[in-house]
Amino acid sequence: MNPNQCSFCGRKKSEVQMLISGQEGFICENCIEQAHGIVLEGSKKENPSMAESLSDLKKPKEIKAFLDEYVIGQDQAKKQLCIAVYNHYKRLLHANEENKEVEIEKSNIIMVGETGTGKTLLAKTIAKELNVPFCIVDATILTEAGYVGEDVESILSRLLMVADYDVERAQKGIVFIDEIDKIARKSDNPSITRDVSGEGVQQGLLKLLEGSVVNVPPQGGRKHPDQKYIQVDTKNILFISGGAFDGIKDIIEKRLNKQAIGFSKEKLENVESEDEILRQLNAIDLKKFGLIPELLGRFPIVTYLDKLTKETLVRIMKEPKNSIINQFVELFKMDDTKLEFTDAAIEQIVERTMEMGLGARGLRGTTEKILEDYMFNIGEHKEIVIDRELM
Ligand code: ADP
Repeated sequence: MNPNQCSFCGRKKSEVQMLISGQEGFICENCIEQAHGIVLEGSKKENPSMAESLSDLKKPKEIKAFLDEYVIGQDQAKKQLCIAVYNHYKRLLHANEENKEVEIEKSNIIMVGETGTGKTLLAKTIAKELNVPFCIVDATILTEAGYVGEDVESILSRLLMVADYDVERAQKGIVFIDEIDKIARKSDNPSITRDVSGEGVQQGLLKLLEGSVVNVPPQGGRKHPDQKYIQVDTKNILFISGGAFDGIKDIIEKRLNKQAIGFSKEKLENVESEDEILRQLNAIDLKKFGLIPELLGRFPIVTYLDKLTKETLVRIMKEPKNSIINQFVELFKMDDTKLEFTDAAIEQIVERTMEMGLGARGLRGTTEKILEDYMFNIGEHKEIVIDRELM
C-alpha cells in the first residue's frame, strides 16, 4: 500500500485533491465519483420504474384499487384517470414496437373541481403508483416568453430536477398543471389586443403538449444566454391539469337550457342538482370559459370532481392509509401515548372545517388546533380520548 497514490487509478497524491484512506488502500475523489456513477446505474437496473411489457403494466382496475387507498370518493374521475394513464403507458409500449401502422395519440387530462377536492392528490398518487417522475406547476406563474415571470419551459426544468436529470426518465413523467383556469382568456372571442397572462401562455403550452423537442434551461427560471440547454422530448410526457373553473356551472346550465328549448322540457327538469349539472361538463363549456380550442384539442379527456360532502370529509379523516387521524395517532405513539377520537369528535372537526370553507385542506389545521394542548403537554397522559366535549 502506497500512501502517496490512489489504489484504484494510480494517480499520485500531488495529482489529486484528496486521497481517502481505507484499511488496505487509498481512493481519490475521481474514483469515488466514478464508483458513485456505477452504483447509480446499477440501482436503476435493479429498480426499473417503467413497465417493459404489457404484462408488467398495471390494469386500470388495479391502479384504481391503489388510488382508493389514498383518495376517497371521486369514482368517476378515478376511473377516467386510470384508463387515461393505462392507455398512455400502453401507447409508450406500442411506440417501441416495430412495423406499427397505427399511431396512438396522447390522452392528456383536464380535471375540473373545486379547490381541495383531491385533484392534486389524485395526480400525485397515480405518479407514485407508476413510479414515474412527477411535478406540480402553477399555471399562474407562467407568462409568455419575454415577459416577467417564468417561461413555459420552466415546467420541464422541474420535471428534470425531480428525475435527477435523467432525461430518459423525465421524458416519461407526469406533469400536473394546477390552476389552468387562471390562464383562460377573458372572453370567448380571440383577443385583439395581446393578452400576456392568458392566451399567450396557452399558446406557449401548446408547444409542450403537442410533443416536441424543447430546449430546457437546466436551472429553471429565466433563460440565460450562456446557460447550456438540455433537450427534452415531450412526446411521451403525460400532462394532467386541474382547475376550479368558478362559474362553469352557469355556462353548462346555459348550454343545457339552450339544447332543451324546443324539444324537451323534461331534460331541463332532470338536471336540477348541482353535481348532476356539473357532470355534463364538456370541452365546449371549457372553450366558453376561455380555453383556446387548440389547447382543448390536446386535452381530450375532461373529468369532473364531486364536491366534498360531510360524509366524504368524515371518511377522509379516517380512511386513507395516511389519514389525518392515523398521522396523529402515530405521532402520539412515539411518546407512548394512545390517542383516540370518537366518531362524534370527528364529526365536530368536519363541521368546524366546513364552516371555514376550506374543504378537505382545512381538516388538518382544525385537528392540529384541537390537539394543541395535548401536544404541548405530551407525556403527561398515557391515553387520550378526544370526544365532542373535549373540544
Ligand atoms: P385540489 O388539488 O383539488 O385543490 P388537493 O388534492 O390538493 O386539492 O387536496 C388538498 C388536501 O385535501 C389533500 O392533500 C388531501 O389531504 C385532502 N383531500 C382532498 N380531497 C380528498 C379525497 N377525495 N380523499 C382524500 N383526501 C382528500
